Formats: sequence, C-alpha cells, structure tokens
Amino acid sequence: MSERKPWVDLSARYGANGEYGAWKLVQEDYYWDRIDQAYEAARSLGAGPMGLGITTYRMIEAEWMTRRESEQVEVNDWLTIEWVASDAELPFEPIRDQILRSCKVVADEFDYEDTPKVLVTLLARAANAPWAPGRHGFCVDKYPYEKICIPSALTHDVADLDEVIRHEYAHVMTMNRSNGLVPIWLDEATAMVAGGGGHKPAYLSFASGEWPWRKPMELAQAFQENRESPIGRQVVWQAYQQSAAMGEYLEFLKGKDGLGRLLDGYTNNTLLCNLFIRLRGEEPSEEALNEVYDFGIEALFYRTHEWLSSRRSS
Ligand SMILES: [Zn+2]
Repeated sequence: MSERKPWVDLSARYGANGEYGAWKLVQEDYYWDRIDQAYEAARSLGAGPMGLGITTYRMIEAEWMTRRESEQVEVNDWLTIEWVASDAELPFEPIRDQILRSCKVVADEFDYEDTPKVLVTLLARAANAPWAPGRHGFCVDKYPYEKICIPSALTHDVADLDEVIRHEYAHVMTMNRSNGLVPIWLDEATAMVAGGGGHKPAYLSFASGEWPWRKPMELAQAFQENRESPIGRQVVWQAYQQSAAMGEYLEFLKGKDGLGRLLDGYTNNTLLCNLFIRLRGEEPSEEALNEVYDFGIEALFYRTHEWLSSRRSS
C-alpha cells in the first residue's frame, strides 16, 4: 500500500478542491504511463469528487492489471507492443504483423508519413470487465508515446484486430497531424472511415428523420453521454454513426488523402492566419475545411444530411 495520499495535503489546504488537485497528480503519472504510481494514487481517491474520476480510474485499473503481467517487445523505432503472452490466443508474430499492416494501410491511404512513437497494449483478459472503458479500444495521447489499448476480446482473430488498430491508429494520426485541434466529431469521423466506415442502416435512420441529425455542439456533447445507461449508449452510437457519415461524405468528395490534407490544414497556417482565426473567435475547423473543401462546418453538416437523403431515394 502506498504511503502517498496526495489528497491529504491538498485537501487540507484547499478543502474539497484539493481532491481535484490530487486527480491532477494521478493524471500526471497516467500521462507519463507510470501506471503503478497512477494506480496507487488513484486507489486512495476512488471515484474522485462527484464520481468524476471513475472513467480515468477504470482506465488506469485496466492498464495496471495488464502492466503487472505483461512484457514489452520493441518492434521497430516507433512501435512497441505490450502483451500478456499467457492470455493470447494467437502467437506474437501474426499479432505483430497485423498491427504493422493495419498501421501501414492507414498511413498509405491518408498519406501520412511522420508516425510518432506508439505503444500498442493488448489488455489483459482480467481487465475485460463489462464496466471497463473503451470496450472497442482506446487511444491516449501520453507524453512518451501514443498508447493504443485493445481489449482482449478483440485479439482473438486478425480481422477484429485489423479494424480496431486502423480505427485507433487513425486517432494517433488525427492528434498529431492537427496538433490536437480537431473536434471530437471529426476525430471520430476520420477514425470511422479508417476502420471501414459506418453502419449503413444507421444512415437510413438519419435520412428518414427517425434519428436526430445533431448540430456540431450537440454532436460533441453526445459523445460524453453516460455509456452505462441504455439511452446514453444509444446516443453515443448515434454520435459515432453521424460522424462516420460525415467522414464518408468527405471521403466521397476528395478521397481519404483529402481527409489527410484536412488534418494538415489545422497546422499549416501562418502565424498571422492563426492570429486572425483567434481574433475572429473562429473554430479552427472552419478555416481547415474551407482550405480543402471550400465550405465550412455548417455546410458540412447540412450537405452530409442531404447526401444521405439523396442516396436513400436513389
Ligand atoms: Zn474512436
């Protein structure tokens, strides 16, 4: 048991706010991937003030359960794989080769060259609890590397692994190409396209008006719904599908490499241009979209819905 109880000092000084400060310390360990320290510190906080830390806590727990038993294999100068050999149903080589292939497919399709360091962690089977976060995998922008965590249920066959790696590696790409400036709906739009696209029956539900077609702010909020409740899960599912449809519309217009150029559009501005964007209080997406597609956010939302409706009637 750790002697470290960071909230004691912080709470004494700042009252309940100290607990938020303690979570900051946990997060700092977590983002350095110092999972043992993060876990010990998180354990003393439980779910944190108002339960806000529960998702982070569960992520740390899953990564810690894995780290206890795992080994790390350095594949090349950018990729390391962390896995628990006794949990795996496939030998290491096919897993490694599939991960390399899937990342390469995304890099080639989206015209992406500068991959950062990536740690792909195949989560331990013990961490595969129904309440675990990121049931379809998740990607965290950590300081030493980007960390992609894959639940053990998706490592039994290479087809599942392929889809989830393409989706998560696309997040690595969006984060780095846009310098973290993409809104969540465009981040997921790109990842959904990379992973093979959305669910076509869902598109019909949008086109018919059965499902709401959310505006940018509403769509971003929809991703934050509570995934533990059936209604929350449905809203999150709709958010992914709406994003996927917008990604596919952008792909339809200019291909996957066009989507790649869109990501670069966030970071290729002159200082003066960035200054104007800020002074106007404009969304960075507005400028990036206009640069590559000659229309902005509102038009993207409107036109994608029109596109789905026209495909439905044709
Ligand atoms: Zn995603």
